[in-house]
Amino acid sequence: MSARIVVTGIAGFIGSHLADRLLNQGHIVIGLDNLLTGSADNIKHLDHRRFTFINHDVTEHISIDGQVDFVLHWASPASPTDYLEWPIPTLKVGALGTHKALGLAKAKGATFVLASTSEVYGDPLEHPQAESYWGNVNPIGPRGVYDEAKRFAEAITVAYYRYHKVNAKIARIFNTYGPRMRIRDGRAIPTFIAQALAGENITVFGTGNQTRSFCYISDLVDGIIRLMESSSNEPVNLGNPKEMTINAIAQQIVAMTGSRSRIIHRPLPIDDPKVRQPDITRARELLGWVPHVTIDEGLRRTIDYVKQKIG
Ligand code: UDP
Repeated sequence: MSARIVVTGIAGFIGSHLADRLLNQGHIVIGLDNLLTGSADNIKHLDHRRFTFINHDVTEHISIDGQVDFVLHWASPASPTDYLEWPIPTLKVGALGTHKALGLAKAKGATFVLASTSEVYGDPLEHPQAESYWGNVNPIGPRGVYDEAKRFAEAITVAYYRYHKVNAKIARIFNTYGPRMRIRDGRAIPTFIAQALAGENITVFGTGNQTRSFCYISDLVDGIIRLMESSSNEPVNLGNPKEMTINAIAQQIVAMTGSRSRIIHRPLPIDDPKVRQPDITRARELLGWVPHVTIDEGLRRTIDYVKQKIG
């Protein structure tokens, strides 16, 4: 059945892929973005009669006429370099923006889905991270603006579920990659690919022995759609459990691009998590979801995108 769906952060990497999938499924999509870190390029192909774009900062009141069935709240700077550059907008969109998006869902009787993050676990002392883990976050560190905004966003989402009976869901998204990431957005995979293709040094921060678990975008979108359609109101980890060191991903990118780039080391950013791997038991059991795209395949598609983007 066709639904009318509001997506905040529509021009971001994940938001724009969500729009593609929802439109393919026959839904009506109203996308909001203030284009602070999102890009109009990501949605310019959505010349579709079921798609509307509204340039709006969701920290301000959101007015949408008519019925709304789902509100997917994806707006936020999400790369560590972005939230260092935009600390106050990051805090505001996580706090005030989530409040406004929840207010819209409450007024319309819509189902709400929050884009939360593995950053709520901070530099984790439990490994892999299950949803039951409360996290290890430095509130006043440089990443605190993002981590605490998302932790507040989870708290207010659960409060709206408990007190206002909004049918609210929380996706805790682990590192995700794929086409439409900004090439210089500071995150490891697009940065390494762009450096490798340009023959520049690959900048691995710290020893490179820190780990991450990278999920390809199409798998993530599958998980989000399943969560949106599920009857569950528990937070759910969405990510690929295949854990790798940052050195290993850098080496694989150098090999796959046939690059002569050298790997060099730069200081590790403050509070950079040492390990990260989702426990996806809950997603598997509640949503029947597991990621399928291998890192080889996902990197191949992402490298093709970066090549085409830098021409
Ligand atoms: N990283 C790196 N070089 C870069 C960008 C990132 O070594 O040019 C490291 C970063 O310190 C972290 C990991 O790669 O340990 C993943 O960083 P990213 O910014 O992609 O996401 P995070 O998981 O830290 O939010």
